[in-house]
Parts: sequence; C-alpha cells; structure tokens
Amino acid sequence: MNNIKDYNLEELKQELISIGEKPFRAEQIFKWIYQDNVTSFDEMTNLSLELREKLKQNYSLCIFNILRKQESSDGTIKYLFDVLDGNAIETVLMKYHHGYSLCVSTQIGCKMGCKFCASTGIAFARNLTSGEIVEELLAVERDQNIKISNVVYMGIGEPLDNYDNVVNSIRIINNPKGINIGARHISVSTSGLVPNIYRLAEENIQCTLSISLHATNNEKRSSMMPVNNRYPIEELIKACKDYIAKTNRRISFEYALAKDNNDNLEDAKGLVKLLKGMLCHVNLIPINKIENGAFDKSSNENIIKFRDYLNEHGIVATIRRELGSDIDAACGQLRRKNL
Ligand code: SF4
Repeated sequence: MNNIKDYNLEELKQELISIGEKPFRAEQIFKWIYQDNVTSFDEMTNLSLELREKLKQNYSLCIFNILRKQESSDGTIKYLFDVLDGNAIETVLMKYHHGYSLCVSTQIGCKMGCKFCASTGIAFARNLTSGEIVEELLAVERDQNIKISNVVYMGIGEPLDNYDNVVNSIRIINNPKGINIGARHISVSTSGLVPNIYRLAEENIQCTLSISLHATNNEKRSSMMPVNNRYPIEELIKACKDYIAKTNRRISFEYALAKDNNDNLEDAKGLVKLLKGMLCHVNLIPINKIENGAFDKSSNENIIKFRDYLNEHGIVATIRRELGSDIDAACGQLRRKNL
C-alpha cells in the first residue's frame, strides 16, 4: 500500500484526481497529517466517510513504532524507530535555546564508509522514502508534544545518495501547508557527492548545505573518507563555489578533529588556504570516539587553538556543542547496539 506521506502537495492533488476526488482535498489532508499530526484517516473529520474509506483502502499513514529511546543528561533524545519492514533507523532530538532541532536519517545503513563513522560496517539496506523521512519528524513531535523548528539531514545515510527522496521530503517539510519549517532552518549534509551538489544548487530551495570536509589534502581526506577518491577536494570546492554563486547561501564546512590526525597547525593553515574568501562557516566537531574506531578525540586545548587560528585568519569557525555524548550520539551507534 502506498505511503500517503510520500507525496508532496502537488503530487497528492494528482493522486486524488486519479481516485476521482477534488484536488482541494489534498490541502485538507495535508493539514491533518502535517499540522494536526493525526495517526488515522478516521480523525480527518472534515472529509466524507466515503473518502476516508477510500483513503484507508489505498494508502497507509506509515506510523513508526518506537523501539528504543535514550535520553541524555543534556536533554538530547535518541530514538530508534521500527520502520515497519523489519528495519530500524535512528533520529536524534536536540534542545537548543532557539528551539528543537532534529537530526534525521536518510538511508538504512550507508554506502560511503567514512572511517570515523559508527554506521560504517552496517550493510546498506535501502533508501528511506520521503514519507519515511518526514515521519521521523512527525513521530518525535507526537511523542514529545512539541513543534520542531530545525531539521538537519545528518543522521545515518548520505542524503545526496538518496537525492530525489531527500529533496521531496524537504518540499513537504518546507511547504507552508505542510510542516512549514523555513528552508533556512533546514540543513542538508553531504560527504561530497559532487554531481548532486550541482543539482541541488538548481532546485531553488534555500536550505543550508553542509559539507563533511574533515581534511584539507586528498591523501588525508581519502584515508578518512573513501568518497574523496571519486570526488577529490578540488572538485568538491569548485562545486561548493558554484552552490554559493547560484543560491547566495553560506556553506557550512564540518571538520571533525581527530587527535594527531587532522588537528595540528598545518591542517589549520591548509583550511585557511582552501576556504579563504568563500561565503562559509566552519563547524569544528570534537570527534565522538566509537567502539573499535580508528580515531581519538582531540584535546580541548588543541580544539581551541585550531578555532582561534581560523578566526584570526578570516575564517569564521565555531566549536559545536557536544550534545548527547553520554548516549552514543555519533551516528549509527544506537542502531549498532541494538543489532
Ligand atoms: S559519516 Fe555519514 S556519509 Fe559517512 S559513513 Fe557515516 S552516515 Fe555515511
């Protein structure tokens, strides 16, 4: 049965026409699903009984079950959801002073094999559909009785490797008649799938692009991220410049600092050289140590020195607050423990 959350508003209108209904019903259904967050078609009381029956026969509402929930002392909550086909995915809710931010997964497993990531070693099973990505958000809002204000596509999976579903989920989340989160509050992360960075620049969505950079030369980056063998740093930076030129949006570069690997002054100098003059921001991430992981966390002193060097040389850099470090918040860890 088709998941009704897989359709953006225009597609849902077409669906309704195909089952002999008026397209304006799509807006009513959108409101019930995304604003009232109902869990059954029976609750859509301004639709006729006949239409509700038709919807029940043709579509599912894809309501996830919570398999496990881990709450950190800082309020971060990590969910493990049963996605109704025997697979499980994780989603992390973070509380900030400006509201709630949700980190969503986009695939079951990941093909990219980044060496610092706990998802590495979990076989790729399949892409999540756009409706499943959106349901991550709705399931958390129902469980917590809150409204989420920011969405980051940074959970398990490479978002741009599931391009169409990710872009469609953004359209639903961003639609004022859907979940209505502004594009500037939506951030898509990529390990560097260059052709899809060019595609995203053409979508006319004002979301933030976040690049997992983590090293400034090809040898080091390839040793941490095999994707760099396909799309080396020069090509990646060229695509980023194109994204900035087309969207006028600032890019966020993620840089996870690993002890004695990419956290010395030479690396900081390399980063300044690479990013000088670009409309960008660097997010320094104290790496989360993972079980059997190849990397250790950099010292606080080194992290601060690294940040100060960037800031003194014209690159805006901040250190990301470590949220959920007591609940295995590096992506992939909760899922792996449950297997
Ligand atoms: S860091 Fe992201 S892209 Fe890399 S393996 Fe992990 S989930 Fe995949």
